[in-house]
Amino acid sequence: MDQQTAQTQLSQLRLELNRYRKAYYTEDAPLVEDSVYDQKYQQLLQLEQQFPELVTPDSPSQLVGDVPASNLAKVTHEIPMLSMGDVFSFAELQEFNERIKNAVGHPVDYNVELKIDGLALSLVYQQGQLVQGSTRGDGSIGEDVTNNVRTIKNIPQTLPEPLDLEVRGECFMPKAAFAKLNNQREQNGETVFANPRNAAAGSLRQLNAQITAQRQLSTFIYTVVNPQNIAVATQSQALEKMTQLGYHVNPERFVSHDLQGVKAYIAKYQQLRDQLPYGIDGIVLKVNDLTLQQQLGNTVKVPRWEIAYKFPPEEAQTTIHQIEWTV
Ligand code: NAD
Repeated sequence: MDQQTAQTQLSQLRLELNRYRKAYYTEDAPLVEDSVYDQKYQQLLQLEQQFPELVTPDSPSQLVGDVPASNLAKVTHEIPMLSMGDVFSFAELQEFNERIKNAVGHPVDYNVELKIDGLALSLVYQQGQLVQGSTRGDGSIGEDVTNNVRTIKNIPQTLPEPLDLEVRGECFMPKAAFAKLNNQREQNGETVFANPRNAAAGSLRQLNAQITAQRQLSTFIYTVVNPQNIAVATQSQALEKMTQLGYHVNPERFVSHDLQGVKAYIAKYQQLRDQLPYGIDGIVLKVNDLTLQQQLGNTVKVPRWEIAYKFPPEEAQTTIHQIEWTV
């Protein structure tokens, strides 16, 4: 392909993907299924890899989420909330593992976790008191949802220790709550939510916290932003400590010394996926050693020390409807 043709294809892909991103991230009303988005996004990445001189700052490959457009107050994330690289085959996971080994000079342990299908949430504590909850937004600027997160039952308002801490995790709507909510909405003649992820995002990003309170949202916390404040050296220790502090931490995790265990984990959860009470769209591999994570650092969009393996799309998905937009 010549450069001119690549340029034309890239401009079209950027326009199309940015339109999908806006609908998905700021309106919680996706125009297409995730698998359609993912396929086009992979096309864009491949073209950009072939023609790196054609990468522009407004390319979806350079952007995290979207600028929040709601009436909620804005919050600046001192440490950006990034996206995550993803792969779709075991061979690509092996390539990731090789890259990590080459970068650090030796094999590493990974903490393997489920990839929860919700939206990222930051929680800030001062002296052990919850003082702020916010969404990811465009990674640098998110939305203040403090009053809303105070209504979520498994988020501790007060920690057992007077810590200054920022933790991050996934806010999601359990499958049963999603089914009940859509049922009610259908009976009331209201538009239904496309999927639990969009229902969670629409419910958390409400101006009226009383509406959020009725939506039965839940969380799994998976990151501590300032691990030095809780004296942990690995991701697995951080998750243990966060469990002790009262956070809801997903128990389906393990430390893997090689990729064989990861292969079995993928097979297990791809099978069990439908039976879990919450949605997952893949698994996540994280370099376990936090010092190595620091050393590996981030690109503009994703940490280099973690990767998501995405499951193939689920067959039965609710038809995508236009949904309410109340904030
Ligand atoms: P992502 O959702 O694929 O991955 C990053 C996110 O994973 C993190 O921000 C975090 O919220 C979440 N996560 C879940 N479990 C985690 C764990 N254990 N550890 C760490 N993080 C965990 O990335 P993204 O950039 O937010 O969005 C891309 C996704 O959104 C793709 O799946 C894409 O299909 C979808 N999307 C769909 C449309 C559409 O129109 N349908 C548009 C844009 C994006």
